[in-house]
Amino acid sequence: MDPGLIQLDQGSGGRAMHELIDSLFVSAFNNPLLAERNDSAVFEIRGGRLAMTTDSYVVDPIFFPGGNIGSLAVHGTVNDLAMRGAKPLYITAGFILEEGLDFGDLKKIVLSMAEAAREAGVQVIAGDTKVVPRGKADKLFINTSGIGIVPAGIDIGGQNARPGDLVLINGTIGDHGMAVLCKREGLAFENEIESDAAALNGLVDLMLASFAGIHVLRDPTRGGVATTLNEIAEQSGVGIRLFEEALPVREDVIGACEVLGLDPLYVANEGKVLAVVPARGADAVLSAMKSHPLGRASCLIGEIVSDDPGRVFLRTRIGGHRLVDMLRGEQLPRIC
Ligand code: MG
Repeated sequence: MDPGLIQLDQGSGGRAMHELIDSLFVSAFNNPLLAERNDSAVFEIRGGRLAMTTDSYVVDPIFFPGGNIGSLAVHGTVNDLAMRGAKPLYITAGFILEEGLDFGDLKKIVLSMAEAAREAGVQVIAGDTKVVPRGKADKLFINTSGIGIVPAGIDIGGQNARPGDLVLINGTIGDHGMAVLCKREGLAFENEIESDAAALNGLVDLMLASFAGIHVLRDPTRGGVATTLNEIAEQSGVGIRLFEEALPVREDVIGACEVLGLDPLYVANEGKVLAVVPARGADAVLSAMKSHPLGRASCLIGEIVSDDPGRVFLRTRIGGHRLVDMLRGEQLPRIC
C-alpha cells in the first residue's frame, strides 16, 4: 500500500477514515465545532442554536430494495441533524451526473428525494448540477447539506455519555448494508433484504418529548454499531458494554452475513438510532420508541461503564468479554 495514495478504506467509516479526518481535515480546518466530531455542528446565532451538516452519496447500485441514492441522501442528512436533537428545516442538493445517465432514472431519483423531503418535513431550497464525461463518475453522486434548529434545553452529542447510562436501539442491525450488498452482488435469498433507510426526526421528537435529558443520539451508518459506539466511547472517555444476546439481527441478515463472512455489528444502517440515556429516563424513552412505527423493535443493548475508557466490549452469551474495535479495512465500499 502506497501511503502517498488514497485507499478505499479511508472512506470506510472505520479507523482509517477517522485517522484521515483527524490528521488532515480537522487539523487543517482547525475549529472547535469541527473538532467535536459530531453528526452535525451546533452553533449559536442571535440567541438561538442551529445545527448544520453535509454528506455525499455514492451508493452502488443507485436503486436498491427499500430506497435509492436520492431518498437515502435526504434521509441521511435529516438524520444527522436529528442526531443533535435538531428540527431539520432545509436541505441543499448537489448533483454530479455522468454523461449518458438515463434521464428516467434521474427523474425517479429526484422525485423520491422530493417525497422523502415532504415526509420528513424539510424543503430542498438550493442545488447545483454538474455533468462530467462518461467514465469520470459512476452514474451519479449526490451531496446534501442540511440545517435545522435545536430547541432550548437540548444538549445531545457524542461527548455526553456517562457511566450508568443505558444504550438503546430502535430495531434490527445491518439491514441497509446487506440490502445494498446483496443487490450489488446479485445474491438471492428466500426473502429480499430491504434497507431500513428512513428519516428518524419524527422518532427522535417522540423520544425527546418523553425525556429531554437524552445524552447521545447517533445513527450507526458506515462502520455499523461497533464503530459508532467506539466513537462515542472515545468522545466521552467511557467504556461501553454490549450484551450479545440482546442485539437484534434479522435471520436473513445473519444468513447473508455468514455467507459473506461479515459481522452485522460492522454493517451499515440508515434508519437506526443509538440512544445513550441516563438510567432514570430509559424506560420512558424505550416506550416512546416502541410507540413509533420506526421503533417497534426497540430494545436495550448495552450500558456505559467507567472501566476501559474509550473501549467497547461485548458480553457474550456464555458470559465472556470480547473487545469490539472500530472497523478496520473496507468491507463494504459505496454502501451510502
Ligand atoms: Mg451520522
